[in-house]
Amino acid sequence: MSHVQKIHMLRDELSFSQLVQGYWRMAEWNLSHQEILSFLKTHVDLGITTVDHAHIYGNPSCEELFGNALKLDPSFRKQIEIISKCGIIPASAGKIPHYDFCKDQILASVNLSLSRLGTDYLDVLLLHRPDFLMMADELAEVFVRLKTEGKVRHFGVSNFSVPQFSLLQSRLDFPLVTNQIEINPIHFEVLNSGVLEDLQQRKIHPMAWSCLGGGEIFQAKSEKIERLVHELHVIADELGAESIDQVIYAWVLKLPSKPIPVLGTREIHRIKKAIDSLQLSMSHEQWYRILAASRGHQVA
Ligand code: NAP
Repeated sequence: MSHVQKIHMLRDELSFSQLVQGYWRMAEWNLSHQEILSFLKTHVDLGITTVDHAHIYGNPSCEELFGNALKLDPSFRKQIEIISKCGIIPASAGKIPHYDFCKDQILASVNLSLSRLGTDYLDVLLLHRPDFLMMADELAEVFVRLKTEGKVRHFGVSNFSVPQFSLLQSRLDFPLVTNQIEINPIHFEVLNSGVLEDLQQRKIHPMAWSCLGGGEIFQAKSEKIERLVHELHVIADELGAESIDQVIYAWVLKLPSKPIPVLGTREIHRIKKAIDSLQLSMSHEQWYRILAASRGHQVA
């Protein structure tokens, strides 16, 4: 088993493990509190100490399931970094889903996350998806208040464009620590968006969600996926990789902005394979073959 390094996200103030465990799907796993704690402790033993949540994940709430598990061993909180997200308001009582970064919404969302998780603080709070009505000055005041109250240590965003990131950062006296975005060889629009280059310039690591396309890659239902899976198998053989998920992680990790993959699996053996993929080294040509297989054409 290879080693999962710590990545400095902000000088000596904040580190993430090189891979993060996502808890979006946990409500579907049907685990007892004890089983959740045991899953958490197993991936922490393997070196994955950072966990990704959001206040809207799961029914029942994944934050609450996680918090109840953590209550079985409260001292374990100190061994992990908890990320949660806010800003998405789900549909309710005749209202449509929408995004809202207003002060009261953010404060209420953070308080709810803290009480569900059974913790005094979040290591990082992310704005889940950009609110087109974002008032950056108001948001900056809310961030300062949450920081001063000790409820949130650091802030970041998710699915933000370069201008959205720049606008918010321009109103803050402290740096945003990440932008969590979708990166995988099925949906690779982000490669042309400028987001990765902007983060690299700022020396900020992106976090990469749904590296395996949310599992879509394993259900070859289109010509594109079939082409891609075929090429991934060829390259897996060339690299001596155990399986195609490892090749995909190597493809994501080759990006010079050094993304941090957020894993979505509930299977410890798949987490171990993801860890082993950190040792794979892919050539430029292999990276472009995966892109070409997905696009259906090579670069000119
Ligand atoms: P993913 O790794 O792309 O997909 C995970 C899914 O793929 C699971 O259902 C998993 O099932 C399945 N899978 C993995 N390996 C497989 C294999 N070899 N064969 C068959 N199925 C396989 O990640 P994701 O769950 O979509 O996203 C990861 C995390 O990113 C989430 O938990 C969440 O924390 C975060 N996220 C953030 C955003 C955002 O907007 N910021 C959006 C989406 C997700 P098994 O459990 O059976 O392995």
